[in-house]
Amino acid sequence: STAARAVGVTKVYGSGEAAVTALDGVSVDIERGRFTAIMGPSGSGKSTLMHCLAGLDDVDSGEVFVGDARVTGLRDKGLTDLRRTKVGFVFQQFNLLPTLTAEENILLPLAIGGRKVDRAWFDTVVDTVGLRDRLGHRPTQLSGGQQQRVACARALVGRPDVVFADEPTGNLDSRSGAEVLGFLQRSAQEFGQTVVMVTHDANAASYADRVVFLADGRIVRELVEPTAEAVL
Ligand code: ADP
Ligand code: ADP
Repeated sequence: STAARAVGVTKVYGSGEAAVTALDGVSVDIERGRFTAIMGPSGSGKSTLMHCLAGLDDVDSGEVFVGDARVTGLRDKGLTDLRRTKVGFVFQQFNLLPTLTAEENILLPLAIGGRKVDRAWFDTVVDTVGLRDRLGHRPTQLSGGQQQRVACARALVGRPDVVFADEPTGNLDSRSGAEVLGFLQRSAQEFGQTVVMVTHDANAASYADRVVFLADGRIVRELVEPTAEAVL
């Protein structure tokens, strides 16, 4: 089944002479429970596609669906609800709140949304990502890799339809990056969590079940069960 879907999505920034077509009729099905990577050179439209799929950016034509919801046409309340309950995010810069502990950061989206904490699920996520003994630490007391694993746990704790990760290893050394990628891979394989990752790193993309290649706002190639060599 499909966790998210873009159908003929076009996105243009600016107008007239300055118009830039960031996405040019992109259609893609994001399969539930799988780890999909979106690859392509800088400026190819990766971030725009992710933002459109996640309801962070509106489309000029075409349609986007997440879970059982049609995202296209949603207004303020619907979009807020989508962001709070149906999607989770991991950013290149971690984006943790510095005054909160790791545990408080992980639970923040649920607290903001007024949602109940599933303690058993919280424990499973924390143990899988290897943060049990770091829950009381603040971000400055954690390494970059640990901070990004906190961000991954935060993205998963609300059991969203899709976790979106934008260059999640961009600020990490290769060992910490491998831990984060391994966790995203396990969350799909073991928990059935749908994950979409934007990256320009072939090695990172090789952790995914499927790689979708963008160039100039179009999907130009796809790989299933990729090896790092095949992605390059
Ligand atoms: P990628 O993530 O692959 O680097 P982006 O989706 O960021 O690509 O950008 C695709 C194209 O759209 C690029 O030409 C970029 O300059 C342009 N673009 C992206 N965001 C904006 C924006 N907010 N305003 C104007 N142009 C934008
Ligand atoms: P990335 O490709 O890693 O997302 P970018 O530098 O392309 O990084 O984009 C960073 C931010 O700037 C994004 O929010 C994007 O929408 C915006 N952006 C990118 N290109 C342009 C542009 N030409 N004009 C205005 N905003 C842009």
